[in-house]
Amino acid sequence: MKAIRVKKTGGPEVLEMEEIPDPKADHGQVVVRVFAAGVNPVDTYIRSGNYPLNLVFPYTPGIDGAGIIQAISPDVEGNIKKGLYSSLTKDLKVGSRVYIAGSLSGTYAQLALCEISQVYPLPDDISFSQGAGINVPYVTAYRALFNKAYAGPGQWLLIHGASGGVGTALLQLARSRGLRIIGTAGTQKGQQLVKDLGADYVLNHLENDYLNKIRDITKGKGVKVIIEMLANKNLQNDLSILALHGVVVIVGSRGTIEIDPRLLMSNEGTVKGILNLKIPEEESYQVHSAIASGLKNHIINPIIRKEIPLTNASEAHTLIMQEGAYGKIVLLP
Ligand code: NAP
Repeated sequence: MKAIRVKKTGGPEVLEMEEIPDPKADHGQVVVRVFAAGVNPVDTYIRSGNYPLNLVFPYTPGIDGAGIIQAISPDVEGNIKKGLYSSLTKDLKVGSRVYIAGSLSGTYAQLALCEISQVYPLPDDISFSQGAGINVPYVTAYRALFNKAYAGPGQWLLIHGASGGVGTALLQLARSRGLRIIGTAGTQKGQQLVKDLGADYVLNHLENDYLNKIRDITKGKGVKVIIEMLANKNLQNDLSILALHGVVVIVGSRGTIEIDPRLLMSNEGTVKGILNLKIPEEESYQVHSAIASGLKNHIINPIIRKEIPLTNASEAHTLIMQEGAYGKIVLLP
């Protein structure tokens, strides 16, 4: 099969297409024919060596994807028949459409080797490209909003960076739960997307006075929940617009920042962090169950910015680190 291989850390140019042997499904495993692979910023951090993982070279990047199950190990087939798996995976068989939530071999490839627990059913009305945009964005968005911030109807929510993969997922989930949403984007196109996805107010995080606009919108009370995509730039500002007993959930940060802790004292605020790599098994089942329901009820509808041939993976890694996000970038093997 064809796969992207990384032999050493470095810039996007270290992503090289190669012919490698097809993976085989061993105990507990399935092989998925990948029709689309999701590109996440973390793929670029790992590739450049800026992520605390013990990499074994060469490796194939990619956490997310979608495709069709091509092979299932006999023990998995037996266990499915015996009803030993969760309700989410109980009907999977060769030929099933699935989205991938992590894999053993990497998703930037024509085939991906996965644990049975890493594949989930993909409804017929969700395209493979959309399926490749489900796992990291929606798991992160769901956990940040509901399992960390305990966000609820009527509360003011600031999605600080609403135009990208996680931001658009947050918009869809928050709108379905009746939050009052302020979303930000850095381009006009991104702002239009945030508006179309149902934000009550759309602001530009590159403008000077947008924080004052948030104070005005919330009548000086501030925002109850902030989901933050770039904490190293915004955390101090977030604390200055946080409502009494509000919470900031840090999803993204690319550096350090100095903050005034007094701001947290005066609003009795909380700052929490989230890292999907640390998701406990039980929570993973809970979140993917919620995603299954969201897909069925058309609450979840991933936005695809660009489909790029797998062979041009380096272009995708360059693009995702530039300004002007608009949903997801996916690779087509
Ligand atoms: P993405 O699709 O590239 O989107 C990046 C978002 O950040 C865009 O909405 C972008 O807006 C926005 N942004 C840029 N400058 C900003 C600023 N000054 N203030 C606020 N927002 C700004 O990336 P993603 O997949 O949504 O991920 C977002 C971040 O979360 C990344 O850093 C990623 O690594 C991280 N992440 C963390 C986890 C976790 O487990 N903790 C999981 C997923 C993602 P414009 O382009 O419109 O300016």
